[in-house]
This record gives sequence, structure tokens and C-alpha cells, in this order.
Amino acid sequence: MKSFIQVDPSSHFPIQNLPYGVFRPLSGGNARIGVAIGDYVLDLSVIEAAGLFKEAGIQTDIFNQPTLNAFMELGSNAWKKVRTKLQLLLSEDEPTLRDDETLRSQALISQNDVELLLPAQIGDYTDFYASKEHATNVGTMFRGKENALMPNWTHLPIGYHGRASSVVVSGTDVRRPKGQMKPPTADAPIFGPSKQLDMELEMGWFIGPGNEQGKPIAITDAEDQIFGLVLVNDWSARDIQAWEYQPLGPFLAKSFATSISPWVVPLEALEPFRVQGPKQEPTPLTYLQKNRASSFNINLEVYLKSQEMETAQKIVSTNFNYLYWSMAQQISHHTITGCNLRPGDLLASGTISGPKKEERGSLLELSWRGTEPIEMNNGEQRVWLEDGDLLTMTGWCQGDGYRIGFGEVTGRILPAYD
Ligand code: MN
Repeated sequence: MKSFIQVDPSSHFPIQNLPYGVFRPLSGGNARIGVAIGDYVLDLSVIEAAGLFKEAGIQTDIFNQPTLNAFMELGSNAWKKVRTKLQLLLSEDEPTLRDDETLRSQALISQNDVELLLPAQIGDYTDFYASKEHATNVGTMFRGKENALMPNWTHLPIGYHGRASSVVVSGTDVRRPKGQMKPPTADAPIFGPSKQLDMELEMGWFIGPGNEQGKPIAITDAEDQIFGLVLVNDWSARDIQAWEYQPLGPFLAKSFATSISPWVVPLEALEPFRVQGPKQEPTPLTYLQKNRASSFNINLEVYLKSQEMETAQKIVSTNFNYLYWSMAQQISHHTITGCNLRPGDLLASGTISGPKKEERGSLLELSWRGTEPIEMNNGEQRVWLEDGDLLTMTGWCQGDGYRIGFGEVTGRILPAYD
């Protein structure tokens, strides 16, 4: 498959990808929906207005909207039809868009000339804890080796209800939180700016139509609910977390900000990269039993650039396929009590760590709670994030001569408020 638009083999956005996003042209105008293709955005509100989605069954105003929620709600058959139509319109042999200069000039905008916005109105955000390596590392540091993995961990995907209001799009600065913490040597808690600000490398997925309250989503139907995936940085204040997390889990340590990448990669684009995922021992209960390979080979990296550094330095290199619990299992588990998911809900995987040291997806693990500082190229050291640090996460699947990429999610740390 090839597009009439030139796309570099290293680009994240070839015709095989076509991730959805919400953008506003810098020249003005309202927010609307587009797909990324090479260095361009294809404005779907223009394609829709030209009547080119009629045969895909899109009759109403779905793309001239400031969020993807209405499109997410249409479900996987509609997503497939639209994607097929877009791949046809952008292919090198198809004249409709290629040879129509007026339409092309209206519909294709350079990515340099747009502002990317949050792709959806997120009603609920749930964060899981699905990486066994991460859970084992954190458990070892917080509770000791013997109690590292809680007895429930291998039986169900652990999660907590996150905060949807503070999910921000890539490029948004993140203010260091203040809070209550109790250093191990102190007799009483203190209040102040977090001194242990961390990142968490995760992936998230947006829910499509969702389910009626009281009606769980069977694991066999769970993937039909996944509209697409984004990169997630679940910023975490470890000192606040360590003091507050028992017995109900994280609260303020993670609710101040969560950053996501702006382009939502359709699950269908990831099909060529489907892999089995880790073997699960013991076998989960029936409602969590996988009926197919349900992980994906997605390379993930994190870069850190301090204020003093001229170029960013890679500090993490890992893979989505390390996740123990699959997305389908997490969806099925989330709804097994009858809890309803709604269009635009965001579920995230939890920190993705692998067995090797460079595969650890948080500073907490990379520096082993401060005992093994990370050496930066310019002589600085990092244990936790410092003011001015710029964090960049990226991810991609490597195909034969093309990449299905997620772009990036970035965020810079601002000093705490006075
Ligand atoms: Mn997390």
C-alpha cells in the first residue's frame, strides 16, 4: 500500500497507520478531526463536506467536531468503513483526491500549521498495573522482596480510578505538585513540593460504544471496544504516594496530571504486529481467559532533556508486549461487575517495564528508589525529575519498510506554585 503523498520510511504516519486526532489550524477556525499522513493532516471535515463518506455510511456531522467521541460511539464496523475509504482516497492509484487540486489544498494541511488538541472528551480514566516486572519492582521497594507481588496480582488486573479532568495533551507543561508526605526518618508528616516527581511510561486506549450498566463486556467482544491507542505518561509523586496509598491506593500522587499523545492509532493498524504476550500462570478464571494472541510488538522509548542539556538522552527502551494482562482482559475485568464504560473513556496499562534494567518504565525503578542515580551525558545525575526537565515518550511498530508510529508525548516540569 502506497500513498500519492510522499512518506519517509522512518515516518510514524504512513498510509498503513492513519491515526485520528483533533486539531485547530493555526490560521484560525474551529477544532475538527483529521488523520495524520506523512507530514500532513488530512482534514476529515472537508472530506465529509465533500460527501466522500456517504458510501461509508457516515450521514451526519461526525468529523466537524472538537472531539472524537461521536465517531468512537459508532463502533468498529463504522471505523472499518471509514478507514478503508481513507486508505483508498490517499492511495497512489486513486484520482479522487490526488487529481483534485482544490479539494487537496483544502483538505491537506502541514502538521506545522496546526495545533493538536486532546482527541476526546474523557469521561472516565482508569489506570491499571498490568506489568508484572513493574509490580514486582515497586512491591520490592515499598514492601520488601517477600511481599513484592500481592496474592491477588496474578489472578486479576489491578487498577484504580484515575482523574479524567487532569488528562492533558502532549506539550502541556506540568506543574510540580505540593502535598503531604512523611519521610522515613520523620516522626510526623510534612507539607511541601514533591521531591520525588516521577514519570510512568504507559499506553492507553480509548473505548468505543461501551456497555449498558449491568451488562459486562465478554472477553471475546472486548477488542471491538478499542477505538485506538495513545502513549501515556502517568506523572507520579512518589513521596506523596508512599504516605497516602494505604489502604485505598493512589489518590493525589497521580491526580495532578496525566499526559497523552495526540494521535490515536487504530487497533486495526496494529494487526500485523499482534503477538501472544506472556504466558499466564496460574490460568486466570474463565471470564479472563484469552481466546487469541492479544498483545502487540510496540517499541517504546523515553528521552530526558534537562535545562542544561543540548540534546535529549534516551533513558528507557522497552516493549508493550511485556504486559502480563492484555487490553481485552482489562476491559473484561473492568466491566465484570456491570460497571459501564462510555465512548471516550480512557484505560491505561500501568507502567510498562521489562526484565532488563534499561527496560524499566519509571525513574523509581531506573534509580531503584534513589540508590542508583542515572548518569546523564553532560555529567548531571537524575534520581527524580527536576524543574525544567523535558520528558519525551515515543513508540512505534517496525514493519517491512514502514513504521506504525504513535508520535510522541512530551511534558516539561514547572516549579511548584508558591
Ligand atoms: Mn500509572
